[in-house]
Amino acid sequence: MHSRLGRSWLLVFVAVAILAWPALAQDMPPGSSDQPTDTTAQPPNTPVAPTDTTGQSDTGMVQPPALSAESPPSCSAAQTQSATSALAGRPPRPTPKPGPGQIVVPVFCKPFSGDYPTVNFFDHDLPFEFLDDNGYQLTWWGLQYRLGIDGHNGYDWSMPEGTPVLAAGSGKVVFASSTPPFACPILGRATIGNIVMIEHQANSATDRLRIRSGYYHLSQIDVATGQGINAGDQIGLSGNTGCSGGPHLHFGTALFAKGRFIDIDPYGWNGPTPDPWAQDPRGTQSFWLWQDGQAPAPSNDREQAANTDLAGRPAGNAPVAITFVRWFAAGDDNPNNQFVELTLDPRYAPSGKYDLSRHALQNNQGDTFTFPDGFWIQRGATVRVYVGAGQSNATDLYWGRSSGVFDQLGDCIKFQGPTWNGPYRLGLGKACP
Ligand SMILES: [Zn+2]
Repeated sequence: MHSRLGRSWLLVFVAVAILAWPALAQDMPPGSSDQPTDTTAQPPNTPVAPTDTTGQSDTGMVQPPALSAESPPSCSAAQTQSATSALAGRPPRPTPKPGPGQIVVPVFCKPFSGDYPTVNFFDHDLPFEFLDDNGYQLTWWGLQYRLGIDGHNGYDWSMPEGTPVLAAGSGKVVFASSTPPFACPILGRATIGNIVMIEHQANSATDRLRIRSGYYHLSQIDVATGQGINAGDQIGLSGNTGCSGGPHLHFGTALFAKGRFIDIDPYGWNGPTPDPWAQDPRGTQSFWLWQDGQAPAPSNDREQAANTDLAGRPAGNAPVAITFVRWFAAGDDNPNNQFVELTLDPRYAPSGKYDLSRHALQNNQGDTFTFPDGFWIQRGATVRVYVGAGQSNATDLYWGRSSGVFDQLGDCIKFQGPTWNGPYRLGLGKACP
């Protein structure tokens, strides 16, 4: 989905990067031009005593003991206030929940207030930018997400510069500084990023886990190394510093295991197969680290301008286009949290209205919603089709299903008119066939 760098160039870059800064990871530009890109320059790990005893083997096959924070930190009012959608006119995105088999270590609150789109996930296969080239991010629920940065080692939330960034948990600031200048290929020049890292501890009956949260690309740093901190304290403002192609917060999480800090996924692992990162000798097991209701919503929104391709170039001439789909809600059983939006494209419907009789929506499996006879879509009035049951009106329709309609491991929504040559398609987590 994105351009690749030659190996020789890569080696030069890595050599330069290592001289400039230890353990520098590079984000590549994603396929979609409106997604931020970034590089996370990791500050050096401070020397640490190997006190971690999570019981993880190099193969990741040993199940660690059940763990929980003895007294999870209280989240701040800003973190717990109900999120209003960042997308005007749409309901807030549902908060994801851990799967039934996941180990929960509830140390984290949301690192911001409100709701921002997730544009990159932690890649369980595997979190090595440059080195991983399988073409997807393997998300915590097992989706091969092909629209982001391969090998991404944390979470990217798109947000305006200057958004307050909040400590995810209580602990101690172990790093709060600008990086030295380092080469940034996506910017074509050297750059400097502002980073804060906090170390947290989670206790269980037998273990004391050391967990770090990292906050990257900040425009302002409000804390100092060595400072104690409470969950919800403002640590800085989000920005676009470092090797970043757009304003966003990169949030990274690491667990002290095998004598060092290893990047992990704060959402844990709930995929249908064993976690490749837990099995990899360089990796370790991830836990669900969020307190109840605090996990930022996953990227279950798919938005695209009418009659364009992924890169925003003109494509197609459909009078009515799928312009938005909310399709995934982890641990959520309300089918009305899934919906499809249709928008009239006046370039191809010059009368400003269009009869949707005999038009239909369909998923990959063939489940079909047919529009009511005589239902018209008007210019400027987005029509929303909810998957569940409800009372229809001029712009809201209901599929009438008792459960969700989209495959969490990737799907495709198609919109077909009786006189069109082919359906209008939008991929959900993967390309449409
Ligand atoms: Zn990132």
